[in-house]
Amino acid sequence: MSPTRLPFSEQLAEASRFILKGDYFLVVSHVNPDGDAISSTLAVGEMLAQLGKHYILINDNSIPDKFVFLMGNRQIADYSTKPQLQFERIITVDCADFQRVGSMKELFTAGIPLLNIDHHPTNDYFGFAQLIQPEAAATVEILYGLIQELGTSWNQELASFIYTGLLTDTGGFRYANTTSHVMRIAAEMLDHGAMGNEIADRLLERLTMPQVLLLQKALISLSFALHGQVSWLSVSHEDIGELHVSNEDMDGLVNYPRNISGVEVGMLFKETAPNQFKVSMRSAGKVNVAEIAHFFGGGGHIRASGCTVEGSFLDEVVSKVLKEVGRALL
Ligand code: 5GP
Ligand code: MN
Repeated sequence: MSPTRLPFSEQLAEASRFILKGDYFLVVSHVNPDGDAISSTLAVGEMLAQLGKHYILINDNSIPDKFVFLMGNRQIADYSTKPQLQFERIITVDCADFQRVGSMKELFTAGIPLLNIDHHPTNDYFGFAQLIQPEAAATVEILYGLIQELGTSWNQELASFIYTGLLTDTGGFRYANTTSHVMRIAAEMLDHGAMGNEIADRLLERLTMPQVLLLQKALISLSFALHGQVSWLSVSHEDIGELHVSNEDMDGLVNYPRNISGVEVGMLFKETAPNQFKVSMRSAGKVNVAEIAHFFGGGGHIRASGCTVEGSFLDEVVSKVLKEVGRALL
């Protein structure tokens, strides 16, 4: 973490100045965006709209279908379609390092002022200005503070964005990051009209058919090591292709090994391309999985992290990762 980290109130003041001074913004989140990434993008867009700014919301790829209900008549452009972009400032949300934006990193040229808003403890403080609070449960929790600082007003949609990021990054208000502050903000968002039950139903309960068919296959791969303290599932590139599963279809899979009693570290190995494995890690508390992911060039949170590891076979990648997990469990 940067030794020059400013107190949060000063970071908020700097972020406000950054926003008030600019006119044309690009708002960017990370590849394979989750609920917090999408909600944060939309919430920043709403703030900018209220301030009369010009802005483009954009992601490296298209937005997963299940989030479309949140967007109303808003658009999040798909960078892979090479849209026309006019901007003078960039705001990144929920990105721990600039690699997380995917191919959009080519826009991050020297001289373009960038504001980095994030809650990952592994954030490397890229950009010109930072609004970073690792204690925050979600990036939207930080945005709640920014909305208050800027004095923009609440409406049902903005409240739904903030509520969604809190709901999804706390696993439905269940993880250790579910503080009383999170619950107070969530309650306030319900008062502002956020549709709590609809959001939970669409994002946490509903399953797609490919998702369940993949679960059926993945459970066969369930494995254990280190006296049952580590467990994992894997999905092959073939299965992903055959079942037409999307990234978000694979979202909850890592919870199966994670939730087994006695398991300290639960993992999912997804073969995203031949010889390339995306690893999701979840900790029950003993192990800091952000450090393990960081070792492999990824990052994340103490209890939830991810990285990409190359290897010709699944077994090779599993043993590389197990070696580091074993070390952490010593
Ligand atoms: P997931 O396993 O659900 O993809 O990610 C869990 C957490 O780790 C998320 O907070 C996500 O932001 C972070 N994460 C996942 N993959 C990467 C990665 O490749 N690099 C970094 N820096 N963080 C990641
Ligand atoms: Mn987040």
